[in-house]
Amino acid sequence: MNSRRQLQKALIGYRMLIMNVRSYTFPMARLSARLFKNLNPNGLVLTGGMHASIATEEMQEVQEFDKICTGPGEKIIVSLAKDPAAFPRVFPAEGAKSMGEWPRIDRRLWPQPAGWFLPLKFNWPLEPACGWGPGPVATVLTSRVCPWQCVFCNENSYIPNMGRKPVDELIDELNDLDERFGVGSVVIHDSMFFQNPSYLKEFIDKYPRRARKLWPYWAAARADSVRQWPELFEALVKETNWNTVSIGFESGSDRVLRLLNKECTVEDNDFAIDLVNRIGDDMEKVGRTPVKFWANIILAIPGETREDAFQTMRMLRRMKRVLPSISYYAPYPGSVLGHQLIAEGKSLMSKDNYHRFPGSEKTRGVDYAFYRDLLAGKYEKELGGRTNYSDALIKA
Ligand code: SF4
Repeated sequence: MNSRRQLQKALIGYRMLIMNVRSYTFPMARLSARLFKNLNPNGLVLTGGMHASIATEEMQEVQEFDKICTGPGEKIIVSLAKDPAAFPRVFPAEGAKSMGEWPRIDRRLWPQPAGWFLPLKFNWPLEPACGWGPGPVATVLTSRVCPWQCVFCNENSYIPNMGRKPVDELIDELNDLDERFGVGSVVIHDSMFFQNPSYLKEFIDKYPRRARKLWPYWAAARADSVRQWPELFEALVKETNWNTVSIGFESGSDRVLRLLNKECTVEDNDFAIDLVNRIGDDMEKVGRTPVKFWANIILAIPGETREDAFQTMRMLRRMKRVLPSISYYAPYPGSVLGHQLIAEGKSLMSKDNYHRFPGSEKTRGVDYAFYRDLLAGKYEKELGGRTNYSDALIKA
């Protein structure tokens, strides 16, 4: 929605507003709850999501949030919606042991966009193309929660790991969506797709045989895991059409990678880059669309020197086929580094302006003018070539 008026129109006449609140959507969730209550004074606002787990007290301050579920809510959401009075205002919930327990989503229950959204033309309830592959796009999950502990992320500290969605169920769901709506490409929106080799081997074995089509897909990996299982990685790319490989490279400096507790090294990053460059060349030679990176890069990390940032940009320049996704570091609550910087009074973000605008200033003491110049291409000599990446400040 583009305006408060559109939002208001969409909220009139409902008895219940259910919201998954994340830190960067907290200000919008609060505004939506207030508008909803004004328009529907007897309506109820039910909330949950990551921000409810990591910043429960901020959620409690919003009087319009009638119920606040901390932790994964999949097992109680139906009971909650049926009988909200049976729950206290704030309550914890436990997730399922495996995604195999989740019923398949009936996407036709999603709101059908109308009016202002129609020019985008897409096959609701699938999604429009966002630049990763052709539309209509089917977004799916095969796993929840990444087991690593990068200090800017830490989702694993709040949501327990769980079993993956069985491979057969995943394939059945995609086939069904394709039959009914015509899938153009797939986004496997797991925080970390490339983990558990036994699952990935089963996927390679079954998916090419059972899927109606090998749709190009986007999914995430880590550079160190690619280095650990290169044959498995290459087989997935080539045999299942993993066309856009998202990797959180973050930095080209070992010092900064250690600071982020990334548990990946520059050598790991270089290995993944060389491998994907080579696989892409192979694919091109046989007339296939070459695999590319969706490369997540963080700049303006507190403690990062200019030379660290130059190393990062040089690393990016080594990727032959890449969609760069660059952001300035953001001290979100809930992450280890975020907690530390908030406690030290260095965060420029607050509950009124948590956001995901990748190029805004978020930490006190960082020389943002240098980073703007760096991305605008003013350090060609240091980087040895094309350096204008201003258009790559993208939120993933
Ligand atoms: S940044 Fe990536 S690898 Fe690190 S914990 Fe988050 S999802 Fe996992």
